[in-house]
Amino acid sequence: MQFQKEDFETVHCDFCGADNYSKRYEKRGFWMVQCNNCGLVYTNPRLKQEKIAALYDADYFQGHGFDKSIDYVKDVKEHVSKDDYSLEDWDCDNILSLLSQSSNIQPYKLLEVGCGTGVFLDKAKKHGFDCHGLELSEYAANFVRQMGIPVETKAIENAQYPDGSFDAIVMREVIEHLPHPMESLKTIHSWLKPGGVLFMATGNYDCPERRLRKSDWFYFMPEGHLNIFSNRTMHNYLTKVGFRRISVTNQGDKLMDMLRNYKILTPPDPKPRNIFKRAVFIIVRSINHFISSGMRIYAVK
Ligand SMILES: [Zn+2]
Repeated sequence: MQFQKEDFETVHCDFCGADNYSKRYEKRGFWMVQCNNCGLVYTNPRLKQEKIAALYDADYFQGHGFDKSIDYVKDVKEHVSKDDYSLEDWDCDNILSLLSQSSNIQPYKLLEVGCGTGVFLDKAKKHGFDCHGLELSEYAANFVRQMGIPVETKAIENAQYPDGSFDAIVMREVIEHLPHPMESLKTIHSWLKPGGVLFMATGNYDCPERRLRKSDWFYFMPEGHLNIFSNRTMHNYLTKVGFRRISVTNQGDKLMDMLRNYKILTPPDPKPRNIFKRAVFIIVRSINHFISSGMRIYAVK
């Protein structure tokens, strides 16, 4: 897609408001810059919101948009109604484990922000959650409605959930797309009950793959990925918004899947207790650290 000069806007750092940055990487004519004050990495200048909104059409959800690595329609066909223990099951078990430590009453009410075609919500429903979705795309939302799960097609800033509506809020591969993550995280924090859990997955700027591949790192998709977080900048955000018990892991890829499938890693334990399993876990986790590009984040209100 070709863009004109008037399609772009320049922005300040979302976290600290500074306009003091260093240019890091150039990709397809965009610059990823890093705030000299707080370290947040963001696209600047970036496309205006109305231009970005037009990118999330039916093509995007089928892997023909700016992010060719995703095909959410295929994901629905491959994963929904399957009984294998997937990463989504793992995430649900971790959320349940954190929620069981607070006194809220089941069934837990869960909202997925940016629920796409509902791969996660389908699993969450099986784990007993009372599921709700928030999604910009009508096209994607209709897949979720067919599962009997209610979805509102709105942006976060236009959704009107009362304070304390949910026990858990999930945002998988969403926060990097948000134009104002600080504002959105504050809103999401208000929607959670005290003791409620936020779970997010996103890329990790500090991963070895970014250092090796530089601007070719697949996560640099400057058309739609507006802010890129590291363990440190993510902690900064969540602390400032008021979350506690913040935990950032990178247990989200094929190697860790293997550990789960062979029951070396069983929820809710973050590490195996058995000495042999613990040794296998430590070796695999060390390898994983060098190949994983993502973070999985849990935080409690
Ligand atoms: Zn900053």
